[in-house]
Amino acid sequence: MQNAGLAALGLNWRYLAFDVRPEELRVALAGAKVMNFIGLNLTVPHKVLAVPLVDVLDESARTWGAVNTIRFEGREGDEGWRPLREFDAPPRQIRSHGFNTDAEAITQAVREELGVQFAGARILLLGAGGAGRTAALKIASLRSAELYLVNRTPSKAESVAAEIRERFSTVRVALGYPTSEVDLVLNATSLGLRAEDALPFDERQFSLGQAAAAYDMIYRPAETPLLQKAKAAGCRTANGLGMLLHQGARALELWAGGPAPLDVMREALEKNVYV
Ligand code: NAP
Repeated sequence: MQNAGLAALGLNWRYLAFDVRPEELRVALAGAKVMNFIGLNLTVPHKVLAVPLVDVLDESARTWGAVNTIRFEGREGDEGWRPLREFDAPPRQIRSHGFNTDAEAITQAVREELGVQFAGARILLLGAGGAGRTAALKIASLRSAELYLVNRTPSKAESVAAEIRERFSTVRVALGYPTSEVDLVLNATSLGLRAEDALPFDERQFSLGQAAAAYDMIYRPAETPLLQKAKAAGCRTANGLGMLLHQGARALELWAGGPAPLDVMREALEKNVYV
């Protein structure tokens, strides 16, 4: 996706994947900085670990408590910091600037693909790990009316609910399943990644007939058991590919400084994810 985007923008950069042990993240980030990387993405568990390791946190990373995108920036003398793409030769000083593009990507994908407007919506969110917490806080920030949180480990859902009550006091947040209809069921658990996985919710306590739409953050397999059941129950459905696309496209925009070629990136994703 990123390499297709870079080629379409005419940039001779390359996007590569590196396996880094969490305890070596600090060294890896320092290495990327001295090697004049333009930027990088981080995935679990590095997103949270990177928060104290970057030189500056953007508002997005501060708000959601996680960094999934770093842009390296440089300066000469006392001038302002500029993205490294703007320098012909490596500048004397370089800093890492941490951003979070995940939160916006979740709501953008759900809005685009399912037509869900978050303000005033009633939503059941399954999962309270990294992605679930970010989704919950972002949805609450958009002033959803009611948010129901369910997680295998209840204490994690409780702590997300407490954070929402503190930061977004107008949102009604409840632990457990709704008894009436919801506009959206959003799966942020990893249940569905494997064919033998159970459904991410308890069918004795909630029926997909209560939901107008279902979004699964999982994109491989393309249709999880949750999405199959939701489709059969008449819900509008979408998988997490759009979320993956938008967090990547926003990262590319931060590095390259212009609009990302979304169509090209989407096509590359579809071609490479579903081989
Ligand atoms: P995470 O922090 O490890 O959280 C995993 C979540 O799944 C937790 O809520 C966990 O519950 C729950 N879970 C795991 N195994 C379970 C089981 N056997 N039964 C019930 N619940 C279980 O991971 P994450 O980063 O939040 O990712 C969550 C999902 O979102 C993954 O499927 C990931 O692939 C997907 N994701 C997609 C994108 C995208 O771009 N589309 C981006 C990020 C994540 P506990 O709290 O009880 O452990």
